[in-house]
Amino acid sequence: MPEDLNDLYQGIILDHNKRPRHYGALANATHVAEGYNPLCGDRIEVFLQLSGDQIEAIQFECASCAICKASASIMAEALVGQSISIGESLQESVSRILKTDTETVTLDVQGEIAALSGVRNFPARIKCATLPWHTYQAALRGEAKAVTE
Ligand code: ZN
Repeated sequence: MPEDLNDLYQGIILDHNKRPRHYGALANATHVAEGYNPLCGDRIEVFLQLSGDQIEAIQFECASCAICKASASIMAEALVGQSISIGESLQESVSRILKTDTETVTLDVQGEIAALSGVRNFPARIKCATLPWHTYQAALRGEAKAVTE
């Protein structure tokens, strides 16, 4: 990845870690799940308010590293107001972004999700980035807990 792009993506991660969006419990949540990543010790709780197949609201709380917190914040911003099927395709692009180390991921196509591509350089931290998304999926399926594998 070009140096300047790397810096830009790192800046986005740091910003979301410092000022996480959609942070805090959601009082009228319809779906809630907890996630745990034993590798790093990240813990997260994701709250959803669904109306039909629309994600009306999504919030999270976490005790985690910066990558997990930033990924959750980016996820919440990307998912709020979207349909569940769009959420699914966003999740697929996150998995793809974190797997392929050759593809250049750009902000204009993938939005701030692209910033997660910087995590590819730190394979041990990939589970930190995917935990919020797995926890979101667990909440959708009505499962109370998600643990990274
Ligand atoms: Zn972590």
